[in-house]
Amino acid sequence: MKVCDILKSSKEIVLSFEFFPPKKEENWPLFWNTVNKLKKWRPDFVSVTYGAGGSTHDKSIELSIDLKNQGFTVVTHLTCISTPVRKLIETLTLLMKEGIENMLALRGDIPKDYVRDENEEYFSYAWQLVELAAKFNHFCIGVAGYPEGHLESKSIEEDIYYLKFKVDKGAHFIITQLFFDNIYFYDFVERAQKAGITVPIIPGIMPISSYNQIIRFTELCGARIPRKLLELLEEHKDNPDAIKNIGIEYAIGQCEDLVKNGVRALHFYTLNTNESVDRILEGLRIRRPEG
Ligand code: FAD
Repeated sequence: MKVCDILKSSKEIVLSFEFFPPKKEENWPLFWNTVNKLKKWRPDFVSVTYGAGGSTHDKSIELSIDLKNQGFTVVTHLTCISTPVRKLIETLTLLMKEGIENMLALRGDIPKDYVRDENEEYFSYAWQLVELAAKFNHFCIGVAGYPEGHLESKSIEEDIYYLKFKVDKGAHFIITQLFFDNIYFYDFVERAQKAGITVPIIPGIMPISSYNQIIRFTELCGARIPRKLLELLEEHKDNPDAIKNIGIEYAIGQCEDLVKNGVRALHFYTLNTNESVDRILEGLRIRRPEG
């Protein structure tokens, strides 16, 4: 099923989970255990990340196909900055053949020590991948959006300008970078709408589960942690259970506020674990369609 159709027709909150393919072989049983536990929430779709480094590209595609064959609606991420155009075409062709109808078109970030193959052609921006995927006339295409602006953007105006460009090239929906202050999301949606972006914007929710990890993630993507939340996290930074509980409580409040303000879809960065997502969804008591 196409995510665009789900977003149009769903009467309940559209729920989705992001997974990444485990790098180590021994972590796969635990990964499938997590997926099986999260099945009970009947996610409307799941998404599979694509490492810009390249070492897990094939695993991302295999995992997408496995999940699709298990009955999930799948959104396969693809990054173009370090993937040759030839390989992007091959991969899109394979996804189409396997019946995967959704993809998230991303630029990715050039990994340290990565050297492009001089004999290959590469794209520089996500809009070029959107344009390529749109030519297949098969995919519902998603793109990334940044409520607090992308780190490389010169201004918030430039950020929205290039987001609009991706939509004009054929993107059907937007999933946002993680954020902790909903004000950024509401402001982002308003700015996008003013710029003429009419496609659905899905907020990306990251349950905080480790102090060091969330500090690293927010430094990497530029998301700000509200002062009160940061103080609370710092106070308990040596107590992993307390951090997890703070993260769950915070995400429940954040999602409740989003839903109260008319948001109709929630995308969870699961980090391949189920406990936080389970407890957040239990806390939210959102209705799921019958199976
Ligand atoms: P773009 O839309 O190409 O934008 C990148 C920068 O270039 C922005 O600053 C933009 O303003 C600017 N820009 C765009 N077009 C132009 C132009 N024509 N001229 C000048 N400047 C321009 N990364 C992964 O490696 N794998 C994943 O699976 C993955 N999944 C993600 C999922 C989500 C929901 C999000 C929000 C991010 C994800 N990322 C992933 C991270 C993403 O790849 C990085 O944030 C990356 O830095 C930017 O990717 P983009 O697709 O937004 O790039």
